[in-house]
Amino acid sequence: MANVSSKIEKNNVPEIKEKHLPQKFNYMKNKVVVLPLDEYSPEKIQKTLRSIINMLGIKEYIANKSVLLKPNLLAPSKNAFTPPEIVLELIKLIKTDMLAKEVLVGDSTMTKKLTSITFKRSKFNDICEAEKVKTLNFFESERIKVNLNNPVYDVEEIIYLPREIKDIDIIINLPKLKTHNGYVYTGAIKNLFGLLGNKMNMHMTHKNKIEFQKMLADIFFAVEETNSSDFPKILTIMDAVIAMEGKGPRAGKPRKIGLMIAGFNPAAVDIVGYTLMNGNPTNLDAITSLAKRTELPVDINQLDIIGIDNINNFIIKDFKKPKISLLKKDRIREGTLISKLSEKLMKISIKINRKRCILCEECVRHCPAEALVKKNDRIFVDHDKCIECFCCGESCPNNAISAKFYIFRVLPLAILLFSIAAIIILWFITSLF
Ligand code: SF4
Ligand code: SF4
Repeated sequence: MANVSSKIEKNNVPEIKEKHLPQKFNYMKNKVVVLPLDEYSPEKIQKTLRSIINMLGIKEYIANKSVLLKPNLLAPSKNAFTPPEIVLELIKLIKTDMLAKEVLVGDSTMTKKLTSITFKRSKFNDICEAEKVKTLNFFESERIKVNLNNPVYDVEEIIYLPREIKDIDIIINLPKLKTHNGYVYTGAIKNLFGLLGNKMNMHMTHKNKIEFQKMLADIFFAVEETNSSDFPKILTIMDAVIAMEGKGPRAGKPRKIGLMIAGFNPAAVDIVGYTLMNGNPTNLDAITSLAKRTELPVDINQLDIIGIDNINNFIIKDFKKPKISLLKKDRIREGTLISKLSEKLMKISIKINRKRCILCEECVRHCPAEALVKKNDRIFVDHDKCIECFCCGESCPNNAISAKFYIFRVLPLAILLFSIAAIIILWFITSLF
């Protein structure tokens, strides 16, 4: 493993001095298809998917190719995963109309077991069985080493990918537009994380949230390193029909946006996705890092958006985004007084709601830092060990875990103590006269 931290510090996002960008990264990189879709009815989904394929002009390209569909199968919780209706209609379209050689559906969530459970409970197994499509749980895959040799996209030097990725011609990335309690937003770039199959290690290797976001962009380049054609290997089709707001990516609330968003550059799709949430995409490092390294402006006005007349009409002004932003804290230069202060004040406190907790210990099993422990019928958090990844929240089946800035937890007590002290001082002063 390369000394990633020092490398990133030195380069920040690498400066593109010499242009080494392969041709495939330029292919329609600014183009984003945005189409209205108001419900998950098979007919409407089919029509929208057809329009996307036609507008991107890729029908012939898919013929005779091996295609992997990569949904977001985070957990079998309502609204937390890519709707199976979309995957089913896409399988039908690719197999029968576009005559693909083979179609596969693959993902990895937090563990091999949870991935299998989600495949089953979300009905993806049934769909794939009925359509005779192979499923891939990437935890079971053999891994290949991919060197990121090109200086333009070299932040992480080596990424290990499932062997199957190399043999696949096209990956259709199928994220769902959601908030994320740990990283604010999850969409096209973050969905590529599920291609790895060894995700938990990556959380420990990249504890710094900025670094983690840049690593996500590297996964995109690693996949493209396995692509010998001049055509991009990854196409993203994002479900923004019913998005998730609030406590995403698992325990948030549904919020209707009524759109499907598609494009070859996941950063371009995320610029649209996060703007629709009324967010500023320049604040998210996964987007800025990938955009910079593919020479894409992080500006919705510079994207070539087709399909709808005015994207601004769809922005949801009161979209509820997570209040915490772990990213800001990690942006402060290490070793300074401000960074030390912010480390204390902006520390995230993981809270277990005891009324909701059923003591299943899923969170304990999925915590990469071993910061959770069950003792005397309670789950305890060791905040010194916690790396603030929010994997516990993603794994909790009963939405019993929340994250807040530590300062907000201690603030009421601090105010109470301060008030008592003030009253005592006042009483003392007045008693003197
Ligand atoms: S995963 Fe949720 S319900 Fe299970 S022990 Fe942890 S907090 Fe409790
Ligand atoms: S307690 Fe939760 S947020 Fe903290 S390291 Fe463990 S899984 Fe991540």
